[in-house]
Amino acid sequence: MINTPPKAPPLYPKSHLLAASGIAALLSLALLVFPSSDVEAKKTTLNLDLETPADQLTQEQDAQEQIQATPDVTASPFAQIENGADDTQETATAEPVKVEPAPTVVAKNPNHKEVVVSRGDTLSTLFEKVGLPASAVHEVLASDKQARQFSQLKHGQILQFELSPQGQLKQLHSKVSDLESISLSKSDKGYAFSREITKPSIRTAYVHGVINSSLSQSAQRAGLSHSMTMDMASVFGYDIDFAQDIRQGDEFDVIYEQKVINGKTVSTGNILSARFTNRGKTYTAVRYTNKQGNSSYYTADGNSMRKAFIRTPVDFARISSMFSMGRKHPILNKIRAHKGVDYAAPRGTPIKATGDGQVLLAGRRGGYGNTVVIKHGNTYQTLYGHMQGFAKGIQTGSNVRQGQVIGYIGTTGLSTGPHLHYEFQVNGVHVDPLGQKLPMADPIAKAEKQRFMQQSQPLMARMDQEKSTLLASNKR
Ligand SMILES: [Zn+2]
Repeated sequence: MINTPPKAPPLYPKSHLLAASGIAALLSLALLVFPSSDVEAKKTTLNLDLETPADQLTQEQDAQEQIQATPDVTASPFAQIENGADDTQETATAEPVKVEPAPTVVAKNPNHKEVVVSRGDTLSTLFEKVGLPASAVHEVLASDKQARQFSQLKHGQILQFELSPQGQLKQLHSKVSDLESISLSKSDKGYAFSREITKPSIRTAYVHGVINSSLSQSAQRAGLSHSMTMDMASVFGYDIDFAQDIRQGDEFDVIYEQKVINGKTVSTGNILSARFTNRGKTYTAVRYTNKQGNSSYYTADGNSMRKAFIRTPVDFARISSMFSMGRKHPILNKIRAHKGVDYAAPRGTPIKATGDGQVLLAGRRGGYGNTVVIKHGNTYQTLYGHMQGFAKGIQTGSNVRQGQVIGYIGTTGLSTGPHLHYEFQVNGVHVDPLGQKLPMADPIAKAEKQRFMQQSQPLMARMDQEKSTLLASNKR
């Protein structure tokens, strides 16, 4: 229940600590750097992502990097597929629209005017450019709460004005993003605000990547966005340790959704299927939505990718005490078993339920202080002690999902510093949570197996075919 005394040597080398930290933590860390043993340093890189300035990335790029993305759309047997790389290119070239200093007002006809927002512009300066008085700005902004969105201007954004022959504002229109436009139209009753959301069409794309430096760089070169890369890592996160096990030559294939408007990819959707070869072993994943509407990833033959438990309930924690059948208790000063694992982390760090289940207790329990006990089916039970407090909605009897935050690190009860005491019971017997072979989550329901295979098989076949087409075209 207690932190390791200061003089004691670290119980665990840093590399082992990595293995013990939460899957999410591993993923974030691993995406950025090749295996390294410095946990602390990695934490600090967490906020960096692929939005690193392009020139910096280029410098870091390994000269040997060889990532292959579908090179030619027309050569592909799947006509709707596009090289995902244009995503990255689009972001890279999405420079603010260059505005010539003089004519910012474009007039198609005398009553229609367009203004491009440039640095320093406000709604007032823009109105001024089309000859509208300051009072019109106030009138517009006061007309509707939502109309204030017109004052959240982005460099390069275009405002379109429709004016009456007398030069009064009739309509104001602007495209806020590829998916959203806003308008304000004047009638006898004043201005009416409207918003138009464009529904993108969905197409699928394929990428293939070979890892030569880090997963994040390889994925980026393959045209996979940062969030897609995170998604892929989380799909395989129960099987592959992305912090320690990624090697040069590992490779991946992904079929994913792209959201398209007018032929332009505006964002990405779900990963539909993926394959990751790590150190010679290949893992497959297929997204499947069951008849109840719940989506999850399964192996190509229908086993769950997800395990019933995640390894650790706290991301970015240090194991301060291992499970043992006998140790000297630092407060009681007697030999006592330590029937759990302690994770030291700053006060307030979120604690996650390691599996789906029902809360048997959320309250005080003696030396454990604020404690949550979760029952996972009939076999398993987990306990989380010394919490500072419980997360919203966590109370005796409530249901929790795996990964849901149940409370926060504290030092309540018999404890010398902020940490989580975590216990794992199998049929009422305490076991070492780190020594357990994790039980699998349920495979595809028998009744849905056929439907699943009808989706899984074509996706797998398509990845095979795409890959061979790609490799063949690279040899030409
Ligand atoms: Zn403990």
